Amino acid sequence: MSTNQAENQTGLMLKKDFPFFETNPEVVYLDSAATSLTPNSVIDEINRYYRHYSVNIHRGVYKASAEATKVYEDTRQKVIKFINAPSSFETVYTRNTTESLNLIAYSFERVSGLDELYFAWKSGWAKGDVILLTESEHHSNIVPWQMLAERVGARIVFVPVLPNGALNLNALEDIKKDLAGETVKIVSLSQVSNVTGIVYDLEPFQSFAREKGALFIVDGAQAVCHQKVDVTAIDCDFYVFSAHKMLGPTGIGVVVGKRSLFDKMHPFLGGGDMILEVHKGATTYNEPPYKFEAGTPNISGVFGLAAAIDYLEKVDLNEIFRWEQELLYYALEKVGKIDGIIIHGPSLEELKKGQYEKVGVLPFGIESIHPHDVGTILDDYKVCIRAGHHCCQLLMQAWNVSATNRASFYLYNDHSDIDKLVEAIQGVQKVFKR
Ligand code: PMP
Repeated sequence: MSTNQAENQTGLMLKKDFPFFETNPEVVYLDSAATSLTPNSVIDEINRYYRHYSVNIHRGVYKASAEATKVYEDTRQKVIKFINAPSSFETVYTRNTTESLNLIAYSFERVSGLDELYFAWKSGWAKGDVILLTESEHHSNIVPWQMLAERVGARIVFVPVLPNGALNLNALEDIKKDLAGETVKIVSLSQVSNVTGIVYDLEPFQSFAREKGALFIVDGAQAVCHQKVDVTAIDCDFYVFSAHKMLGPTGIGVVVGKRSLFDKMHPFLGGGDMILEVHKGATTYNEPPYKFEAGTPNISGVFGLAAAIDYLEKVDLNEIFRWEQELLYYALEKVGKIDGIIIHGPSLEELKKGQYEKVGVLPFGIESIHPHDVGTILDDYKVCIRAGHHCCQLLMQAWNVSATNRASFYLYNDHSDIDKLVEAIQGVQKVFKR
């Protein structure tokens, strides 16, 4: 497909679906890795909940409550299908990826006696039990585990990154040998890095988790929005993501996991809806997924999540991935040519050689200019990018920088957005040359 045809099908055509561009016609939005923009269909569906229902779910015996409950419950299956999870999996709603990971970490503080597959969990935690993470994780896939490790005496082992931010798989092999006689209880990593956009090969981590009888958890926050995810193929125990990075509303996320595990897990929050019976002496818990959804949930958020999935599927995630590749290559070429630019992460050459797979995320720096100054001046050009540590301080430490800039591209971006980014970067350099 030629660039123009592709542009018609994605970037230019789709901008009209996003009211942000109507309200901010001058703005070039290149911060979708933080939060994506919201299409009309998602906003309409959230509105539909408030206009047509606006009532609580599960408890009501009247029609409006029953209909809202149906959308809320049906969306669980829509999520399962969206990521091709096995039918033995269940969807639990949370506020976001962060809460999803906290839920798992908290719930597994007390779990023991799981079946054969999870022999690391036959008894409770012992001092020195291992949680395996990577240096490229978002803080939300580090801090909940650190908090758990503090409580149970576990230790965390981090798989290091290479200078380009890719995971050091040779080091992983050494770590596997070092951990030969040890109990590994958790292996958790992101499918796609929010800083470099690298799509990781999960297989060496998955097979290690299985070999050790550990749980295998995948943070899909940056994956589900950019490509077709296949949880059956990944063969993990839990897959987590947030709606707000995939065109959905803020305040709604999911843990999709094995029902057999949810059955055994301790609830995260206590309150209404998650109980069967409450007595002065003891309380019995509801079955999953309700056991993990205490209190009135984000009902309109679930309506919005369902509409976001519909929108992404209508556009087609394979097409979104392909379009982002086109924008990414164009950006790497154009931005990479500017004097004084540092491109972090895999180079265009490495991508062209097929050494890495990457979504539309471009981390960069400008020599001698602090990333926050870059971000602030780009805003004068109405170009929105991210500047900071991106909640990935371990990766920043590995790169020996305190912060980077990050431009991220999504289905509504087009080549002209990147041209404006280039122009704005050159503008920043002019300001500092004065
Ligand atoms: N993991 C990754 C890879 C992320 O990119 C993010 C958000 N930047 C998170 C987790 C946390 O997501 P949320 O803020 O929606 O909880």
